[in-house]
Amino acid sequence: MATILIVEDEPAIVELIRVTLEADRHTIIEAGSAEEARQKLALSSPDLLLLDWMLPGQSGLAFAKSLRDHTRTKQLPIIMVTARAEESDKISGLEHWVDDYVTKPFSPRELKARVKAVLRRRAPELCGEVLRSGELMLDPDTHRASYGNKVLNLGPLEYRLLYFLVARSGRTFNRERLLDAVWGQDSEVEERTVDVVVRRVRQALAPFNMDDRLETVRSVGYRWSDD
Ligand code: CA
Repeated sequence: MATILIVEDEPAIVELIRVTLEADRHTIIEAGSAEEARQKLALSSPDLLLLDWMLPGQSGLAFAKSLRDHTRTKQLPIIMVTARAEESDKISGLEHWVDDYVTKPFSPRELKARVKAVLRRRAPELCGEVLRSGELMLDPDTHRASYGNKVLNLGPLEYRLLYFLVARSGRTFNRERLLDAVWGQDSEVEERTVDVVVRRVRQALAPFNMDDRLETVRSVGYRWSDD
């Protein structure tokens, strides 16, 4: 489940969002303004931002734009919360800065559905879904990868790297991005460690002739290929 930062100045809305998302077992962090959100982001790495448009001080949209300028928050999934129907003409350009938006008033069900859709697209490993690529199956409940009825011999790092790549099949990731995803943003691990773990994943896949699915993309990084 995900850690979600809510940036919203109306306590009643904060409460509604908190109760709704905690029911889906997400962890909630709160901020009442863009300034406070910046402080929270310096101390934590949420998986998703629920951002109110109309905030005291800097607007939600200006804040979203500023987040796209920083490496650490450039990829952070954002759902914008908008209040008024008359904003709909401005919303047309919104997709460039945010992943999705919800308009107040929204039902708990709609909010859950949008959060789930964005997480599934941007951070599938947090949705707890079983992944399949051919005969290979990855189960996030047990942290096990299996092929047919055989379990692959993978340590926790190898499993996380494989899950990350299989969940984003076809996309290439550089070592820095993989370090963030597998070891965490504040890790001091060197980039060549990624190569070591990739080698171990390939060793575990080799008995099933799937080791060449984890492809090296020269001078870029790695990707998973479904075929
Ligand atoms: Ca507001």
